[in-house]
Amino acid sequence: MTAPGAAAARPPRQPPRHLADLDADGRRAAAAELGERPFRADQLSRHYFGRLTDDPADMTDLPAADRDRLAGALLPRLLTTERELSCDQGMTRKTLWRAIDGAYLESVLMRYPGRVTMCVSSQAGCGMACPFCATGQAGLTRSLSAAEIVAQVVAGARALARGELPGGPGRVSNVVFMGMGEPLANYRRVIAAVRRLTDPVPRGLGLSQRSVTVSTVGLVPAMRRLAAEGLSVTLAVSLHAPDDELRDELVPVNRRWPVAEVLATAWEYAAATGRRVSVEYALIAGVNDQPWRADELGRLLAGRLAHVNLIPLNPTPGSRWTASTPAATSEFVARLAARQVPVTIRDTRGSEIDGACGQLAAAGPAAGQAPGPAGGTATGTAAGPATGSVIGHVRDGQSGAVPSRAGTGGPGGGLAAGAPALAGGPAGRPDHG
Ligand code: SAH
Repeated sequence: MTAPGAAAARPPRQPPRHLADLDADGRRAAAAELGERPFRADQLSRHYFGRLTDDPADMTDLPAADRDRLAGALLPRLLTTERELSCDQGMTRKTLWRAIDGAYLESVLMRYPGRVTMCVSSQAGCGMACPFCATGQAGLTRSLSAAEIVAQVVAGARALARGELPGGPGRVSNVVFMGMGEPLANYRRVIAAVRRLTDPVPRGLGLSQRSVTVSTVGLVPAMRRLAAEGLSVTLAVSLHAPDDELRDELVPVNRRWPVAEVLATAWEYAAATGRRVSVEYALIAGVNDQPWRADELGRLLAGRLAHVNLIPLNPTPGSRWTASTPAATSEFVARLAARQVPVTIRDTRGSEIDGACGQLAAAGPAAGQAPGPAGGTATGTAAGPATGSVIGHVRDGQSGAVPSRAGTGGPGGGLAAGAPALAGGPAGRPDHG
C-alpha cells in the first residue's frame, strides 16, 4: 500500500464511473446523458461482459466516429497491470494492479482441473489489522469501486478465453472475495460487483451466485444485511479461534462482535439462504491449534450448516508465527471429524509468488518500503511497487478432495505471497463455492 505519508498528502480519489458500476437502468441513463440511444449501453455491455473487450477498435457495431468517445466515457481503463507472477506451471497467476489514482491491489487466478477460481480484492489494503495477515499490516488505502472489482475478474476471464493459461481456453467459474480488503466494509460496491458478476450476459458476466464466496472477519450488521439480499452467494467467516480471548488478538474486530454473535449471525445467513457457511481457520503453531481449541470449535459447529476450511498459515514478513505441524493439523482435523464437522485443508497455491492467503500486500509506488516479501519471486524492482503486498488471501472454493499440494509452497511458504489455495482436505469436502 501506499506509504502513510503519501496517503496523507494525497487523499485517495474515487475512480471514474464505469459501465460495471451501473445496473441496466443506470447504463441506459448514462447513454442518454451522452446524447445516445439507450441501446448503445446494451452494445457496450455486450462488448465488455460478453466479448470481454473494452477496446474501441473491437466495437465495429458502433459508428467509428463514436467509438472512442463512448468507450472513453463508459469503459474507462481502471486498472493497469503493474506486475504479473506465475507459479504452479502457469496454473496460478497473481497480478499486481495499479488503479488510476495510484492505489495498488492484487488478484490471483487459479486453474484447477474442472474449475478456475479468481480471488479478488475488494479494497486497496485493509483496515481490519489482523496481525497474521500481510494486507492487514499496511492499513487501508481505499475501497474499490464495483467496476474495479469486476475488472479483476474480466481480466482473468479474458486471459483464459485467449488461452493464456496452460490447458487451453477456459472460463472463470468461481470468484472469491479473499484478496485484499474486507468486503463487508465496502458493502454497497461489493454487492453491486456481485450482481455484475452474476447477472446473465450481457448485463453481467453470467457466473452462478453459488460460485461466488464473500469472506468476512465478521461484521455482524453487514452479515445480516447480506442475508436479506436474496443472493445465494457463499459466506465465509474468518474465525481463527473459538474463544474470544484469542480471537480478540487474531481478529481485532472481535472486540466489537464476539464469536458467539458472529456465529449466531452466520447461522441466520445459513437459514436464510440454505447455503453452508465456510468457517475459515488459519492454523498457527502453538497459537490456535491446540486440541482443546479443536474440541471447542467442534462443539460450536456440530450440527450446523457449516464446514471448516483450515488454512496452513502463510507466514508474513517479520511474523513470529508459523504454520502448524502436520501432526497438530491431523489432530485438529480428527477432532472436528469426530463431531461430524466437515473439514478441508486449503492448499497453498501461490505461496511462492506471495499470492497465498494473507500474503497480498502491495507496496506503494515509490516506496519500496513494504514489508518485503520474503520469498518468491515477488521482490520488487527498485522502481516498482516492490514490496508490497497486495493480496489477501485467496481461497478457493471447492477443492474437493484434493490433497494439499505440498509442493507449492506449503504452509510456511513465502511470506508475502500468494494466493491461497484451497486444499481439499483429509476429510475433504469442498470449500466454497
Ligand atoms: N477480510 C476478509 C477477506 C480476507 S481473506 C476476511 O478476513 O475474511 C482471506 C482469508 O485468509 C481470511 O480467512 C484470512 O483470515 C486468511 N488469512 C489472512 N492472512 C493469512 C495468512 N498469513 N495465512 C493464512 N491465512 C491467512
